[in-house]
Amino acid sequence: MIEQKKLVEPEKIACEVCFKEIPISEATSVKATDYIMYYCGLDCYDKWKKQEEEPKSK
Ligand SMILES: [Zn+2]
Repeated sequence: MIEQKKLVEPEKIACEVCFKEIPISEATSVKATDYIMYYCGLDCYDKWKKQEEEPKSK
């Protein structure tokens, strides 16, 4: 018998905050206006959220 191996690689994306590559299935995703953003976890999501909320002092 021949075993059929699936060669489907899990889709990976880079976290918006720390740019770590993670499988999409494990990512935390947030739907933005035009696209979906991915985070490796809630820690990074919180960081991003705080950045968005804080007024940029330039
Ligand atoms: Zn991250």
